[in-house]
Amino acid sequence: MSKTIQSIRGMHDVLPEDSSRWQAFEQVVRDLMDAYGYREIRMPAVESTDLFCRSIGEVTDIVEKEMYTFEDRNGDMLTLRPEGTASCVRAGIQHGILHNQVQRLWYMGPMFRHERPQKGRYRQFHQFGVETYGIADPDIDAELILMSARLWQKLQLEDIRLELNTLGSAESRQNYRQVLVDYLNDHRELLDEDSLRRLETNPLRVLDSKNREMQAMIEQAPSLLEYLDNESEDHFEQLRQYLDDAGIAYNVNPRLVRGLDYYCKTVFEWVTDSLGAQGTVCAGGRYDGLVEQLGGRATPAAGFALGIERLLALRQDSGIEDQPRSPDIYVMMQGESSVRHGLQFAEKLRDENPELRVLSNCGGGSFKSQMKKADKSGADIALILGESEIADNTVTVKFLREQKEQQTVSQDDISEFLKNK
Ligand code: ATP
Ligand code: MG
Repeated sequence: MSKTIQSIRGMHDVLPEDSSRWQAFEQVVRDLMDAYGYREIRMPAVESTDLFCRSIGEVTDIVEKEMYTFEDRNGDMLTLRPEGTASCVRAGIQHGILHNQVQRLWYMGPMFRHERPQKGRYRQFHQFGVETYGIADPDIDAELILMSARLWQKLQLEDIRLELNTLGSAESRQNYRQVLVDYLNDHRELLDEDSLRRLETNPLRVLDSKNREMQAMIEQAPSLLEYLDNESEDHFEQLRQYLDDAGIAYNVNPRLVRGLDYYCKTVFEWVTDSLGAQGTVCAGGRYDGLVEQLGGRATPAAGFALGIERLLALRQDSGIEDQPRSPDIYVMMQGESSVRHGLQFAEKLRDENPELRVLSNCGGGSFKSQMKKADKSGADIALILGESEIADNTVTVKFLREQKEQQTVSQDDISEFLKNK
């Protein structure tokens, strides 16, 4: 026998027993987006490699080592999208829906990053993301955070806290950059290889390092908050006011810089201690410069993305169950004429009772084996269509979960009977 083919490392199937958890999440998200007036956008999973290099930044984990990039048959360099923001901006510019407009958009789908697979870190994972365009004021930053807080509440998740920071304007970051470089240079002996490289190219990213041995040194680094421009400071203060008004607790974390280059002013992360090392479930912020950077007209923008696998793991770890719904009715049919009749009977049931879940016995089988299947399906009721029932236009109703006598009901009355049972 030849070796069976396995899924790609870090890319997983969602089996039927798990898909109900995904569907429950997706439903909550759709309802939430409706409630806030956000509209869905769907982007392709593959884009020009350039798009991500120009937006995410050349000196980031994603672009340096995580992208799935390949040359297609035309010789074009393409990349499986590692995140959604760049594609969303690309689509917005391409279709002219950003300039001089307000857009509140959301998307959901698979993302691809070549990382070392572990719990909460996969090579194909899924994000739900939200992007807003055309609003420069911090009220929209607050709305994004309030909306995510409501999402945790809808998902019955409690153990998630908010980390908040501001990166200021490009200019204020430039001022801070020199101070930080000087500080890091004074501690060169503590920097790992990645950080030494970033010291030259993108020193802020050193603050984002996950290297434990560097944490103490990073903690002591000068804070960006002391180098903020006035406008960013006001923006941040207002945002904090709105969050305080709403009773949203947060921790101002000056070390929070985010792994992507395009952020400015507000950045935030929702983190949990319940998932081990992969504790960030949602991350976002403001990225006013990106639309212009990608060739559009300057447009203020803010958004967030959350990792669906991590959220679902958190939900499961908290003991929240989303059981798949069993069928309501199992239609048993025996013999060829019974099958012909039974398939139509089941269709009629579905026509008349759109809310009912009707499972037909397909593939034959003895009365006994059909009964077993009916029971195993989880249905409440088996409807039996044998030769005699067909002859007198009736159906036998057997209650599978209740101690009730079986009954014979006219096929014409069965929908009414099921409604009133
Ligand atoms: P991390 O620091 O964990 O690598 P990140 O900063 O790279 O995260 P973002 O690009 O901000 O992550 O993506 C937003 C969210 O998507 C993350 O907070 C996380 O929940 C999820 N996420 C990111 N990468 C992965 C992955 N490889 N597998 C599963 N979820 C992921
Ligand atoms: Mg990452």
